[in-house]
Amino acid sequence: MSSTLETLRRDFGGDIIEPGAAEYESASRSVLASGSPAYVLRPKSVVDVRAAVGFAADAGLALSVRGGGHAFAGFGTNDGGVVIDLSLLATVEIVDKERHLVRIGGGATWGQVAAALAPHGLAISSGDTRGVGVGGLTLSGGIGWKVRKYGLALDSVVAAEVVTAGGEVVRASAEENPELFWAIRGGGGNFGIVTAFEFAAHPTTDVFFGKIAFPASEAAGVLQGWAEYLRTAPEELTSIVSFANPFAGGPEAPVEIQVAFDGDDPELAAEAIDPIRRLGTVIDDDVALKPYAEVLVDGLVPPPGIRLLTRSAFVGRESVPEVLRILAEVGTSQGSPAISVRSVGGAVSRIAGDATAYAHRRAELMFMTTTLGPQPVVEAARPALEAIWGRLAPHVDGAYANFLSSAADEDVAAIYPAQTYERLAAVKRQYDPGNLFAGNHNVRPQ
Ligand SMILES: Cc1cc2nc3c(=O)[nH]c(=O)nc-3n(C[C@H](O)[C@H](O)[C@H](O)COP(=O)(O)OP(=O)(O)OC[C@H]3O[C@@H](n4cnc5c(N)ncnc54)[C@H](O)[C@@H]3O)c2cc1C
Repeated sequence: MSSTLETLRRDFGGDIIEPGAAEYESASRSVLASGSPAYVLRPKSVVDVRAAVGFAADAGLALSVRGGGHAFAGFGTNDGGVVIDLSLLATVEIVDKERHLVRIGGGATWGQVAAALAPHGLAISSGDTRGVGVGGLTLSGGIGWKVRKYGLALDSVVAAEVVTAGGEVVRASAEENPELFWAIRGGGGNFGIVTAFEFAAHPTTDVFFGKIAFPASEAAGVLQGWAEYLRTAPEELTSIVSFANPFAGGPEAPVEIQVAFDGDDPELAAEAIDPIRRLGTVIDDDVALKPYAEVLVDGLVPPPGIRLLTRSAFVGRESVPEVLRILAEVGTSQGSPAISVRSVGGAVSRIAGDATAYAHRRAELMFMTTTLGPQPVVEAARPALEAIWGRLAPHVDGAYANFLSSAADEDVAAIYPAQTYERLAAVKRQYDPGNLFAGNHNVRPQ
């Protein structure tokens, strides 16, 4: 046994899972990727996280940090390296009732958070899926069902406890280590392991939530009308349009507009949602009042062997009509990827562009395309996908890190404009000069 492993066995109070162990097969996988790591370490405390980071650094092995394990790029596992799986650090604790301050373990999932906050009438705008991790989603953005009213998930973070590459435990907030605080709000897992987040939660009532569907033949008009309406709609309304769903008819699949109205007043909800109902021929409408925690869904977990290729981009106001025209045309043609478009703006765009490392505050929309299937099917679809993105390229900006299944240099450049990247690299040099935390959209120290 190497001395580093001996030290780990001595200092580590969590689980050490190695090949051959009963749990190994499930522990080695993240939600969207399989791997064969040499060690999966499940810390139970901050002291364990420090020991795990020290072990990974000394062993010189590749390191993956896993929160909820939902990264499309499969960051939560590797081959032959170390995985630090934070799933046992999942407490959700209200630390200040009056200010609604909530301390959340770095390995909690949004389903756990929503369930724990519901009895207190609180919520945090997060995402749409229970199993997605607080860590991954927050560190790169967090576009959820209350995004237009409360901003990104990272906009509600007030402090974080971080274990750095050197094993130090530091607090990041507006007052303490402010550059690190800036960087972890958009810069992903590049700077250390966040063992706990402190969020300012918001009061919530039940919410009006559901989908309103239109025929695919009306896609072009519905999309344009939707985007135009969202410009003046109350910020209590957040909405996503999805179409070309391969499981619902591909190019003939209905255009589904999901709406979330943050409030339980039926008249106000109808006032906000009815203009969407008037966009075309409604073929389905299941909008109903629900507890916020019930709005989150159990995400689809594709069977092993099925690959997901996701790409994303942002759209500024002036390009919205052209981008939606192209997407409507693509989505109703054979061989289209699944497409979903999210309204952002609102509270997201009221925050200064350089206040956090999330650099896409001015965008009105964020959209993603998803191609899925066995590897050969996905590969065969690539040229058509490239052609679609080639048409879109002149009209779109950047990329949303959380909706990218690749992590090439051009992806990193799309996520972080040059100025943001340079500032992130300076923070990286301070907290992770050896680039231990590289299993992400990587900001290199040099
Ligand atoms: C089904 C599904 C639905 C989704 N819905 C939404 C949505 O509604 N809105 C949205 O914005 N995004 C959404 N996403 C995208 C999601 O935000 C990203 O996939 C995100 O990376 C997942 O975080 P995770 O912790 O589950 O993943 P992981 O794979 O565990 O982690 C992702 C990255 O974050 C790092 N990381 C995670 N936790 C920590 C931590 N505590 N400290 C340091 N680094 C950490 C990891 O090292 C890795 O680099 C969805 C994804 C899926 C698959």
